[in-house]
Amino acid sequence: MDLGLKGRWALVCAASKGLGRGCADALVGEGVNVVITARGEADLLATADALRALNPAVEVRSVAGDIATPEGRAAALAACPQVDILVNNAGGPPPGDFRDWEREQWIAALDANMLAPIALIKATVDAMAARRFGRIVNITSGAVKAPIDVLGLSNGARSGLTGFVAGLARQPRLAGANVTINNLLPGAFDTDRLKKTMVAGAAKSGASVEEIAAKRRAAIPAQRFGTAAEFGALCAMLCSAQAGYLTGQSILLDGGSYPGTF
Ligand code: NAP
Repeated sequence: MDLGLKGRWALVCAASKGLGRGCADALVGEGVNVVITARGEADLLATADALRALNPAVEVRSVAGDIATPEGRAAALAACPQVDILVNNAGGPPPGDFRDWEREQWIAALDANMLAPIALIKATVDAMAARRFGRIVNITSGAVKAPIDVLGLSNGARSGLTGFVAGLARQPRLAGANVTINNLLPGAFDTDRLKKTMVAGAAKSGASVEEIAAKRRAAIPAQRFGTAAEFGALCAMLCSAQAGYLTGQSILLDGGSYPGTF
């Protein structure tokens, strides 16, 4: 199916690796011009080259910077002629015990996983409405629906974003102007972040990384981790011309891990 996105511009945040990269791959495959961001320049430039090779017909721009900062966001926005599609993403906060977190840790989590996406939405959404096309996808976490105790910073910050977006997406001046805002909630995906958490788990428990991975895979009904390509494909579908009636939703992509009926 042609997703009707050729020639659009997307800002895909935190996209040199992992899930953000999966989204950029899928959008570029659909003929979307992209601006990708990440803090580390070397990986970002390599990803930009790979995206150009994937579809030489599109324009790929890269902006190195921290999307959790006003400067990082301003540079990313300045590189994008118009933002038709916004994929909000940033690294997740570290695990821990809430007794050890001070205001500083909370503010860092809120900046990266709640306030940065809200600031980018604010900067782009009204112009999307004026053009009568806009697609915003926030990469959050399955932890929004099924909280993970040690990820309290993530549970809290991402739930704040989800609550805000639930109200905003339903404004008639946005939903009525073909601007949609949805959240994609990853379960366990085979990315660097997952590998790092398994290496840390192995170091703590004395088990091997492969043992930890096997145990985690076995606990997922799909019996495997998701891939960034699968994640990106669903993101591209949410951004499609055909998906204009789908807004304000939090969509789990977790191989069946969430145990609830609804
Ligand atoms: P990843 O493989 O570690 O990739 C993260 C990407 O984001 C990298 O390109 C990284 O590049 C960039 N990045 C991180 N912080 C940034 C910042 N402040 N500004 C700009 N770029 C930034 O992680 P992932 O697995 O794709 O995870 C993406 C998001 O999904 C995270 O918030 C994560 O917590 C969440 N999530 C992931 C899973 C999973 O299983 N993978 C599950 C639930 C939730 P630089 O480091 O160079 O900046």
